[in-house]
Amino acid sequence: MKSVAIIGAGITGLTAAFYLQRRGVPVAVYEASDRVGGAIQSLQTGGYLAEFGPNTILETSPKVTQLVCDAGLASRRLDPDPQASARYVVRYQRPIEMPGSALGFFTTPLFSWRAKLAVLREPFVRPRRDGKEESVAEFVVRRLGQEFLDHAIDALVAGVYAGDPYQLSVPQAFPKLGQLEARYGSLIKGQIFGARERKRRGEIAKDRAPKFSFDEGLQVLPDTLRERLGEGVRLNTAVTRLTQTPEGWTLDLREGGQQMRAEHSTVIYAGTAFRLAELEVQAPMPLHFATFAEIRYPPVASVVLGFRREDVAHPCAGFGMLIPKVEGFKILGTIFSSSLFPNRAPAGHLTLTSYVGGERYPELASLPPEKLFALTCEDLRVLLGVKGKPTFQHSVFYPKAIPQYNLGYGRFRELMADIEGKAPGLFFAGHFRDGISLSDTIVSACNAADRVGAFLGSAPVGQLEREVPA
Ligand SMILES: Cc1cc2nc3c(=O)[nH]c(=O)nc-3n(C[C@H](O)[C@H](O)[C@H](O)COP(=O)(O)OP(=O)(O)OC[C@H]3O[C@@H](n4cnc5c(N)ncnc54)[C@H](O)[C@@H]3O)c2cc1C
Repeated sequence: MKSVAIIGAGITGLTAAFYLQRRGVPVAVYEASDRVGGAIQSLQTGGYLAEFGPNTILETSPKVTQLVCDAGLASRRLDPDPQASARYVVRYQRPIEMPGSALGFFTTPLFSWRAKLAVLREPFVRPRRDGKEESVAEFVVRRLGQEFLDHAIDALVAGVYAGDPYQLSVPQAFPKLGQLEARYGSLIKGQIFGARERKRRGEIAKDRAPKFSFDEGLQVLPDTLRERLGEGVRLNTAVTRLTQTPEGWTLDLREGGQQMRAEHSTVIYAGTAFRLAELEVQAPMPLHFATFAEIRYPPVASVVLGFRREDVAHPCAGFGMLIPKVEGFKILGTIFSSSLFPNRAPAGHLTLTSYVGGERYPELASLPPEKLFALTCEDLRVLLGVKGKPTFQHSVFYPKAIPQYNLGYGRFRELMADIEGKAPGLFFAGHFRDGISLSDTIVSACNAADRVGAFLGSAPVGQLEREVPA
């Protein structure tokens, strides 16, 4: 049996490969870089544990929980400190705790009375029925008003996508929001009544889903999957060309300075959209990979700073703070990493993880590290009362960080489905197809493994899991 080629050893590629291997399907994972994990990057040094990419996994689907168990990582899973649930949004140049209840909402200084009344009116705003694809900004202003956009949603969008609410598409980037309006006529009614349905389907809304990491950071997950896959993972091996043959697919590989070829029955592309656009492809039908170069991935720099506890005035007891653009700061937001998980900083110190760049200020992300540290320290001085020099400083630049599910993104998804229809045995999975969060990519990978299993005629994962131990 020819093996299945999986292009990319980020969380998507590794998860898909892991589940195919458990079914007894041979796999080869090709990774262009010298490490596994893709966007996930944890660093342990000098008593600090820094996360530069994602910080937490949201447990929105039972498939996420299952992966942790199947990988043998249940005992290494780390849940956040329950005391650290507070989230802050910056207004009037200071972090204000987001309200957690209806009473809290009406008394919070985060919004004016006008904005609060607009929220009360939301259930009575007529739903849009003309099928127009709206941006997040249009949608929020229509239902909740400009202040809610400027002082809450703009910050949230920066925190999730590092994106621009005037460009992001509601049906593509936040499909559940559009569905709530379509189904219940209102976001507030949908929140209340939709909860029952999600419970029945075993799903958890992203804003309520438990979050977790691992004792040594998120890198534990890709590292463990790599161990389980053994020889199946080939690092420093870029796939440069795909050729469809009567028997399957031929891959041209560049490993170090050498060019090679490999024959496979099937291919899962689990890389990035911009690398997909560069792939040469030979198939009986034109497959238009170059179109994927149009997907925007703004740059982001992650800046992780450690401070002596006594040098930070704010208690930083919570998840972190989101910063709307109108507040005029350079950083997009900050995670209070060492409040969230116990082993992120040495005793008497704390770790703050901030993000710079995104669609808001793309030009700042590529600044040299010293400038990034300085601008981050300046914002943290105003916002959290930080003084003194950092005891730890490290940054990672992601030149193309997160794909923007902007207006019109549906055409890229349609193109992927179209290519899969025209080129049997080629499948797409991952952050540019099924959602950008780690939980979305894990679900996407599980579905891709199922689709490949069905294509090859093997049994579904559930049936073989018991017969083929990990
Ligand atoms: C700064 C930042 C913060 C984030 N924070 C969070 C968070 O807190 N929570 C959350 O859920 N999500 C977060 N995300 C999003 C999440 O991390 C990503 O969407 C997810 O990790 C993507 O996984 P992936 O496997 O699909 O792709 P990637 O991680 O991008 O992996 C793709 C891999 O494919 C390889 N590749 C590409 N082309 C080829 C080729 N031709 N040949 C061989 N290899 C190739 C690449 O080298 C790469 O290793 C964050 C992302 C970033 C950048």
